Amino acid sequence: MDRGVFLDRDGVINELVYYAEHGVIDSPFTTKQFRLIPGVCEAINEFHELGFKVVIVSNQPGMAKGYLTQETFARLRKKMSGDLAKEGASFDREYYCFHHPEAKVKRLKVNCECRKPRPGLLLQAAKDLDVDLSQSWMIGDGLTDVQAGKSAGCRTILLGKMKCELCHLMDEQDAHPDFIAPNLLEAANLVKSQKTQRTKATQQTK
Ligand SMILES: [Mg+2]
Ligand SMILES: [Zn+2]
Repeated sequence: MDRGVFLDRDGVINELVYYAEHGVIDSPFTTKQFRLIPGVCEAINEFHELGFKVVIVSNQPGMAKGYLTQETFARLRKKMSGDLAKEGASFDREYYCFHHPEAKVKRLKVNCECRKPRPGLLLQAAKDLDVDLSQSWMIGDGLTDVQAGKSAGCRTILLGKMKCELCHLMDEQDAHPDFIAPNLLEAANLVKSQKTQRTKATQQTK
């Protein structure tokens, strides 16, 4: 069986966009707004080097809410893979949940098993890619990522510069990550150091 690193997309791979006119921070909805976060390619390549499959698991309710067309979403994916490829990085697979319980688009108004914090996307990926979830990581910038990762049985890393406003939410939602890191590259270093420690530990017990 393989090991996986599951990655949220917005705020992990690409920068979030601040829509001042609506006062919200959200996903990019045009290719112009889509910008990779520095260090992301290097981090993905590092995960691959460590022997992990690298998989996106992302909620994308934009279509359900009527902000995004299928065509634009496809263009955003193409932009992402093109930008990654420039530095030799790629994903093994991408999984998206397009549903939303309050969707305007009827066929997407589903209370599904795949929308994080539920672990559906990770479970599906593990099945498709023969990944051992207990040897895998979920990395995201939201507590729903931590919750999904934990429910799937993965170790979790929360990205961001945390202040403890979030700590009581972690308590409330039982969503304490195993680690916190400022960005994906630092998370990759963390995973690497954990892997080395584990290898050492196994060698010692032999
Ligand atoms: Mg996110
Ligand atoms: Zn879904």
